[in-house]
Amino acid sequence: MLASKLSISGVKAFSKGILYKNFHSINNDTYKVVIVGAGAAGLNTSSLLIKRKIFNASEIALIDPFEIHYYYSFLTLVGGGLKPQKNEDFLKNNKNFQRNIRDVIHPKVSLFNNNVKEIDLKFNKIHLSNNLELKYKYLILCPGIMPSFDNIKNSIMSMNNPNCNVSSIYYQLNAIKLNNLKNSFKGGDAIFVTNTPPTKCGGAPIKMCFILNDYFRKKGLNYNIKFYTPLESLFSVEEYSEKLFDLCDQRNIEVKTNHKILEIDPIKSQIIFSNNNKIINQHFDIAHITPEFFLHNDFHNFPFTQKKNSIEIDSTTFLVKNTNNVFCIGDAANLSVGKTASSISSQVPVLIRNITRLENNQSMDASFDGYSLCPVFTSLNQIILLESKFSTESAKSFFNKALKPRRIFAFFIKYMMPKIYWALFIKGKWFGKRFLFAPKFPK
Ligand SMILES: Cc1cc2nc3c(=O)[nH]c(=O)nc-3n(C[C@H](O)[C@H](O)[C@H](O)COP(=O)(O)OP(=O)(O)OC[C@H]3O[C@@H](n4cnc5c(N)ncnc54)[C@H](O)[C@@H]3O)c2cc1C
Repeated sequence: MLASKLSISGVKAFSKGILYKNFHSINNDTYKVVIVGAGAAGLNTSSLLIKRKIFNASEIALIDPFEIHYYYSFLTLVGGGLKPQKNEDFLKNNKNFQRNIRDVIHPKVSLFNNNVKEIDLKFNKIHLSNNLELKYKYLILCPGIMPSFDNIKNSIMSMNNPNCNVSSIYYQLNAIKLNNLKNSFKGGDAIFVTNTPPTKCGGAPIKMCFILNDYFRKKGLNYNIKFYTPLESLFSVEEYSEKLFDLCDQRNIEVKTNHKILEIDPIKSQIIFSNNNKIINQHFDIAHITPEFFLHNDFHNFPFTQKKNSIEIDSTTFLVKNTNNVFCIGDAANLSVGKTASSISSQVPVLIRNITRLENNQSMDASFDGYSLCPVFTSLNQIILLESKFSTESAKSFFNKALKPRRIFAFFIKYMMPKIYWALFIKGKWFGKRFLFAPKFPK
């Protein structure tokens, strides 16, 4: 399942159309709330709506073509060998990584394993891939963004080839391959590549670079390590970008800016980049690559879709452009924030507050502060926390203390966060930087 979800090359159509409609539903396909996407944003939203008793569970429908929900951050730990997995079956059976959506939602929420094909904004209806029509009072779009390796020639075949030393934690269960390549690397050129934003967890590519670098260094290998980016900086907040440049400098990681990945040559073990209209060939003995990300292609032609990779919304209320009962949060929203689950934990309470106000015939009064947190591994066992506000400003809950690499943060992300994600985050009981305490809004 993750295969199709993470590998979608060119964002293929989903194949399944199973209906898991709740047997007890009395709504006859009319719901108070229809949520599109049972990812981090969709599950958190449905849980909090029920927890706050704004709607009954039977008044909510969740739409997702997949039956499985993933805790994606786990792949970073797998790829870096911090949670090594013997093989794909072992990873698929890991409850910290994936669970059946039906098992993690309220039993009375109606779950439709279908794609959304059309949205009828005028008559408040959506059409699903199985031709079913659902009416809504509020529609919440959380379809996320999906990886596409289409613009990196030969990438899929190279990642699938066990003899080609290239992999990506964003492709299928290739995180296992990355860890295997890391373990068998004997020295030479270690190449890490990021791509044009938006990127799901834009910090993940540099995390992999720092983790593997520490592993190679501790093993005493003789290697050159380079990090390639199509951008001029390493993070959208200038201060954090400088911090990351310093960390690279201290670790002898050469940063190559303005390099856009074009192609893999699996025969010569080379990655081909474009750099200011020049073509650059880089040899690799181990490489980690990053795809581009787009909305699922069902969303490409909607009037509110921008550049095929985001949904146009009001960045404070999350209302979709030109609508008054359709919202969008999470990775798909054109918010200028890091595409992270941590940002979603700040978005959901604002969305819930605004929907509650609308239900009570009041005007919406909550606005999103633009928070996102990117925990960056700087070694195998240390992390810095990059907290930002609308991507360009720093937002330091821990003052400068979080910019010093710390073991306690790594311990938290490695051992605590997977448990918190399943027990609290998707249950609407985790509020990111506020931990268990929901933000307070005026009465
Ligand atoms: C490797 C990796 C590491 C990460 N590390 C971190 C981290 O350390 N910290 C952090 O905070 N975040 C991290 N993230 C980011 C985090 O996982 C995302 O920000 C989060 O999953 C986004 O949630 P979402 O609900 O917006 O989208 P998703 O979780 O992607 O869910 C979208 C859902 O919508 C469904 N969907 C798509 N199209 C349709 C359609 N047409 N009809 C119906 N449903 C549809 C999809 O099947 C999917 O289930 C990481 C992500 C990755 C990939």
